[in-house]
Order: sequence, then structure tokens, then C-alpha cells
Amino acid sequence: MPSAPYTSPLAETLAPHLLERFLRYVRVDTQSSRDGTGSPSTPGQLDLARILRDELVGAGLADVELDEHGYVTATLPSNTGEDAPVVGLLAHMDTSPDAPGAGVEPLVHRAYDGGTIELPRAGTVLDPERMPVLAEKAGHDIVTSSGDTLLGADDKAGVAEIMTAVAHLAAQPELPRPTLRVAFTPDEEIGRGAGRFDVERFGAACAYTLDGSQPGELQDETFAGIAVTVTVHGVEVHPGWAKGTLVNATRLAARILAALPSEELTPETTDGREGFIHPYEIHGTAGRAVIHAIVRDFDDERLERHVGLLRRTAEEVVAAEPRAQLELDVQPQYPNMRRHIEGFPEVVEAAERALRAEGIEPVRTPIRGGTDGSLLSAMGLPTPNLFTGGHEYHSVREWASVQDMASAAATVVRLAEAWTRMPARAGA
Ligand SMILES: [Zn+2]
Repeated sequence: MPSAPYTSPLAETLAPHLLERFLRYVRVDTQSSRDGTGSPSTPGQLDLARILRDELVGAGLADVELDEHGYVTATLPSNTGEDAPVVGLLAHMDTSPDAPGAGVEPLVHRAYDGGTIELPRAGTVLDPERMPVLAEKAGHDIVTSSGDTLLGADDKAGVAEIMTAVAHLAAQPELPRPTLRVAFTPDEEIGRGAGRFDVERFGAACAYTLDGSQPGELQDETFAGIAVTVTVHGVEVHPGWAKGTLVNATRLAARILAALPSEELTPETTDGREGFIHPYEIHGTAGRAVIHAIVRDFDDERLERHVGLLRRTAEEVVAAEPRAQLELDVQPQYPNMRRHIEGFPEVVEAAERALRAEGIEPVRTPIRGGTDGSLLSAMGLPTPNLFTGGHEYHSVREWASVQDMASAAATVVRLAEAWTRMPARAGA
């Protein structure tokens, strides 16, 4: 069987360089760590940052910088002489701490036959029966790990696509482009990527993260997220003479969990636009028990209602035992980006034009999670998310399609052109 066709001659032209970059980047261990106190949280991210810095210089970009926190930035100046807005392109360099990330040895399965892919290590199998998206990709050139690590398409697919697109634009000055600002960021997977991003210094009017999956994905809506920590204080006494005095905090925490809805409002019973309350970690002794939960919804009011339900449930359980005490810590994590993007419709419109120019129909699905763009949008840099062609993130079954990654790189080239043709907006 011949390999599946590309979405355009441009995508086909970009594919070999793109794949070569991708295979090089995924071999660098850039796994971030929730326990890391520095920025970046792990030194491997700086190894990739240095490679990218040198390659950006080599490709002829200007203002190439690697700052002390591991952020790589660069500029490709406009070649149209017109004042289109400055457009940012972002991807994160780190990989998830939730699966092994060191020693990635990528494999390319040319012209995938649509069957089960057995990887050489750890008995890892990619089964199209269980992975309907993989089943759609018969004929594609599929990249996987060797089975004992993640692949790192999240988000080195995005990194390689942006690098390939800007290198192509730099080498082809006849292709029109606005001033492009590139940023490769550390520590997205541990939620610290956007926090240290200097939006003002970056100087873009809007940006795009390349951190999605299926071709056409254009996401300008994310969950809003809140983290809640519930702490129950009991009364700890030697169990041998505890009668009438011991108040077991762990039992109270278990009662709180049992009293929360389980047939609805959980990640395992919801999809689409439904939110949830998700207790994901609990540790306790008789004296003290702590429940860590995340609460998610697309709508701020409903999000507050879910937090209220968790609070009331905890209060009611603990109120039944007057000697116990309850503490509740509520921390906003990220907002739904839609609120911060809807005032700039041209940002989504330019992306839709770019996708259609590549022959891809835009798919506007809300993200049941956050992206770096959620925070960046709230920080004044409207940043929707585009597809990358990678799937099964944060697992040893992670895979990516070369054809789809090439479509993403081609879409970035077309996005540059789209911005040189966007009508100037009154008051913008
Ligand atoms: Zn990602």
C-alpha cells in the first residue's frame, strides 16, 4: 500500500524536514517535574532549548533569545511592508511527568496498514479497535515510541511544526508574512508554562499554541479550572484507650467522598460541555486527612456551583462531629479562554482561512482541559489552540501521523499569509 497523500504539495514539501526535526527533538528528555523547584523544573528542557535557539539562529531568525527560565523566543520580521499585527506561535518543550519520558526511541511505521501496531518494548500495543482515530489513519506514516516511554508528540509535534514553518518562510521570502514571534516554553505539563511568560516583552497582538490533536482543530474555548483542598482535622488518641475521644479524620474524609455525586459531575460520567468535581488524591491519618480535588466547567457560574456543592458536602459531614474541624482552600487555576478571545474575532477568522487554504475544514471543539493559551489569553494575549497531529498523550501509546503533522506545519505557513490579508479592524 502506498502512503496516504498529503493535504497539499506544500505539506508534502515540508514533511521530510519536519519528520527529521521531530525525531531529533523527541530523543531529548524534557520531562517536567512537579517536584522541580527551578524554572525550568528539569535541566533536560534547557538541552532542547539550546538546540532550538541554535536552529532558529541557523534558520536566519532575529532576536533569538534563551532566557534564564528556559523560554526560547525569536522574531521573523514581516516582508510585506504593511503593518499587519505581530502574530505569535507557541509550543511547549516539556513532556508529561505521567509516563516515562527518558530514552525515547521513536519508530516510523510507513504506510500504516490499519492493523494492530505491536511495539518492541513493554508489550505495548496500539489497537485500532480501541483507538478509533488511529483506525482512520490507515496509509499514514505513523510515529510511535518503542513502547516503554511516551513519544513526546505533546508537544514536540507543535515545536517541530513551528520550526519547520518559520524556517520555510525565512527561506522563501516571496511568501507573504506579518512579523512572527516564536516562543518555546517550559513546564506546560505542570501548569507553570504561562505564569512566567512575559506577554509585554513578547510583543504580539495575538498568538496560537500548536498543542491540539486532530486536523482542523481550532480551539478558542477551554475549561475554567479551580483546585480545592479539603482538610479535615480530627482528634488523634491511642486506639487502645480511644473510646469516646478519638475523632477519625480519615473516616470523615471518606464520608465526604461518599456523599459527593457519583452518577453525574464526575470525569467518568461527563463529556462535551459538562463539568465535574474530581477528587484525585487523598491522604490521611486519624488526626488529619486531606482531599485534593479539581473542579472544572466551561461556565463560570456553574463552576462556582460545583465548588459550592463540594463545600456544602464537606461542611455537612464535618458538622455532624462537633470536635472535628474543616479547612477549605480554593485556588483558581485557569479561566475559560473564550471570554478573553471573543473580543478579537479576527484571531479565529485568520486561523479558519489558513485551515481552509490547506484544504482542511475547521473543527471548533471546546477543550476539556486548559492550555497555556487559557492563561495567556487572560493575560492579554488572545491565544487559541491549533492541531498538531499527535494522539494518546501522556501515555506509552502516544502516536503521531507524519501526514497530519505536515498539514499543521503547512497551516502555519498559510496562517502567516492569511494575516497579511486580514482587513484592518477599526479601533484595533
Ligand atoms: Zn501539550
